[in-house]
Amino acid sequence: MSTAVTETIAGVRDLVAAARTAGRTIGLVPTMGALHAGHGRLIERAREDGGLVVVSIFVNPIQFNQASDYQAYPRVLDEDVRFCDRLGVDVVFAPGDREMYPHPQQALVEVTGVSDHMEGAFRPGHFRGVATVVLKLFEIVGPDRAYFGEKDAQQLAVVRRMVRDLNVPVTIVPVPTVRENDGLALSSRNRRLRPADRPRALALYRALQKAAALIQAGGRDAAVVKREAVATVPSEPALRLEYLEIADPDEMRPVARIDGPVRIAGALWVGDVRLIDNILVEPGRH
Ligand code: AMP
Repeated sequence: MSTAVTETIAGVRDLVAAARTAGRTIGLVPTMGALHAGHGRLIERAREDGGLVVVSIFVNPIQFNQASDYQAYPRVLDEDVRFCDRLGVDVVFAPGDREMYPHPQQALVEVTGVSDHMEGAFRPGHFRGVATVVLKLFEIVGPDRAYFGEKDAQQLAVVRRMVRDLNVPVTIVPVPTVRENDGLALSSRNRRLRPADRPRALALYRALQKAAALIQAGGRDAAVVKREAVATVPSEPALRLEYLEIADPDEMRPVARIDGPVRIAGALWVGDVRLIDNILVEPGRH
């Protein structure tokens, strides 16, 4: 059976209701499209868990803090639908802006604390936009399970906190980051890298790995670890490290001393493309 595609809220609700009547559970994979093997892993995981698999594709305007980034974001819906079809997705929900935001959105979800640092600090309003659209998607689709990548670890923490604090009846399923052979985290934004910049983009993962190695070797002072990791990023005009931070993995608050599991996260500008990545490190564990 091929993937059903709907652009309307009523349409996806009908498909979900029919599945419910047939006794099936619902898994939701929220995306912004330009799908790659990272999204593919989320979809596979959703399929393994069974039930109706719904993939939403929506480039959410209210989570972009830069109009240029929003405009440049890749949009390839036909390709995405074929990708979903190959992976056995049941439903693609691909609403337009007017379907999701017929009026200016005035009800906004703010998840304080976990949203404050790193991405939240450098992209004001970003997580408010994310939490708001994710809650809307949960209300529209009503999934039992929703799948999120660890690639966006702070987003995952924000969504988990929102679900917990607002008693949303959905299980959040985290999925590990999918990488290219050389370690570059797959991202829809990688499509925008100039070929000459592709090798440079690895600098972020290398810096994260350096920090992880220092911690595994006994480094406990976050400032020292960060300084040495940042120093691995080549000083080239095309590269600008926006931040590299070591944070508590649940609260997403930077730590001064490393005495438990930490998330090492960073954002790197490669030309005019902003990439993020992170890894989880458990000191003493290899
Ligand atoms: P996006 O389309 O970039 O908003 O991503 C949609 C979902 O896919 C989010 O939960 C992301 O964390 C996840 N995702 C994106 N890239 C990867 C990756 N390389 N590995 C695993 N999950 C990913």
